[in-house]
Amino acid sequence: MIILTNNLNSDYHIVTNTNASECERFAATELAKYLYKSTLCSIPYFSDKCKKRGKEILIGKNSRYDYNEQIKNAYDKIYNDLNSLSDEAFIIREIDNEDIIIVGNSPRATLYAVYHFLELAINFKCFTFDCEKWDEKEIIMFDSLDIVFDFPFEYREAYFTDAWNSSFASKNYLNSNLADLSNKLGGKTKWYNFHHSFSDLINPNEYFDSHPEYFSMIDGKRIKEHTELCLSNPDVLNIVVKKVKQWIKDNPECKVFSVAQDEWMGHFTRMACECENCKKIDEENGSQSGSIISFVNKIAKEINKEYPDKLIHTFAYQFSRKAPTNVIPDKNVIVRLCNIECSWSNPLRVSASKNPGGRDDLFLQDLHSWSNMTNRLYIWDYAVNYRNYLLPFPNIRSMADNIKLYKAYNVKGILMEGNFSQGGKGYLDELKSYITARLLKNPNYDLNELIKEFCNAYYEDASPYIIEYLNLWEDAVKPYELWLYDDSDHPMFTDENLDKAGKILNQALQAVKNKKEIFKRVNNVFLSYYYAKITRLPLDTKYRNEMIDDFIMQVRTQGITELFERTSLDFSINVLKNSRYAKERKDWYSLYYIMK
Ligand SMILES: [Zn+2]
Repeated sequence: MIILTNNLNSDYHIVTNTNASECERFAATELAKYLYKSTLCSIPYFSDKCKKRGKEILIGKNSRYDYNEQIKNAYDKIYNDLNSLSDEAFIIREIDNEDIIIVGNSPRATLYAVYHFLELAINFKCFTFDCEKWDEKEIIMFDSLDIVFDFPFEYREAYFTDAWNSSFASKNYLNSNLADLSNKLGGKTKWYNFHHSFSDLINPNEYFDSHPEYFSMIDGKRIKEHTELCLSNPDVLNIVVKKVKQWIKDNPECKVFSVAQDEWMGHFTRMACECENCKKIDEENGSQSGSIISFVNKIAKEINKEYPDKLIHTFAYQFSRKAPTNVIPDKNVIVRLCNIECSWSNPLRVSASKNPGGRDDLFLQDLHSWSNMTNRLYIWDYAVNYRNYLLPFPNIRSMADNIKLYKAYNVKGILMEGNFSQGGKGYLDELKSYITARLLKNPNYDLNELIKEFCNAYYEDASPYIIEYLNLWEDAVKPYELWLYDDSDHPMFTDENLDKAGKILNQALQAVKNKKEIFKRVNNVFLSYYYAKITRLPLDTKYRNEMIDDFIMQVRTQGITELFERTSLDFSINVLKNSRYAKERKDWYSLYYIMK
């Protein structure tokens, strides 16, 4: 039995090495801080320069190892156990009911270990950057402590505005590319660039006029607009190798470099090169991923000669989603498979088995093929409606099941993309960020428990209503498909369901009317209902414009900056006023800002 604290007393001291990294020292202070908040018992933290005065919580490795035989043996065993695990793996282990060792394979892993320990000790949870909870405890005790933990996915990213808050990311074990994870938080695997990059590698504006042969040939003609690269052209290969090497030279701290097809917003027709040579490779491979993987492998081989620790990322997206049959990705190539064509109303395995040959089944087949040919398969998944950020997008149950599915298919990294605009706050963004993070730590967590603990903490007295509201849409969507670009004329939005939703959310608001901060959170959820409601009103409805003005006022109060993906608020307001279901978006243009 280990008794860490008992009624304001503790026999323990927290200890790090005098020369511990900034991250390990931060881990120790976090441990002391939250244990104090929970128990009001202050456990002293000092370095191993001080001599051992009693029981200790040892964070990371320290000089106790050098002269205490028992501690040395315990550490040796721990490092032996950690040896076969990832850089982020950690162990929490007691020595004979006395000292506790908390250590990981890297400083960040040690910080993760501390947060994991706090979960066990005081039920510590970080739900959003401004909502953390823990139990108030008089006694913290354990029957025994022996935890060996490694992450099911090596790359974990909740791609939501609020989830990039560094404190939230770190406390939720997200090693996000876009979160600001400094050395204090253990850093991260840095990506130099993250997505579509062909036109960064060879820009058509710079090269097309002199070298049209570098770009896609469609119907016998080289194209400059909405183009990709001619991947069988040897000059293209040379230029790209040179450019990637330059990127690496200029950014030595980065590990992953993207060599990936372009995306031209709104253009989903033929873009990949169909010249004789490219076509031949693609035909041999039964997919346009054939020329991409062949090309990216050549880049990866060249880079590997000089930089064996660097990785090259590419997409399996839209025209390249189907895996090639004749070539497999090199070991230092990350393939990121995107499921943008799928439906999110039901888990992929359910919808695939119900509708063989349908779009979800086809995706599952592609997932299967890719997973058989690479150990570096990542997934780019989606969790919001991009045409209507606020419109209820009930994908929570399917998301939980799909993450389990990805794990079963040996996927190594997941990015869950939600509303990433400056102001964020799409439909239940905060809840989805939290659930994503938890399931990327452990896909077997009970979804209903996660929803409940989040809603109780974040929405307080409104929690049962918010859960009722989200279940209303999760149930309503099941008979239908759910796409990323549906409008409010989707069949789940019936007048009856909207009436129910309105009643539930009015009760929710009522329940927290005296708590300003919580009211604001519930009001954000209310806006998802309000958006569906007003966009469905016929244009000649009396006071429709006034309702839209009222809605927009609330949107601004919430700090929301976008209603449609990458679209100015003014443009969106105009659409709402002039088009039922916000359908007509004439002269729409993308604010294609850079995500860094
Ligand atoms: Zn070509």
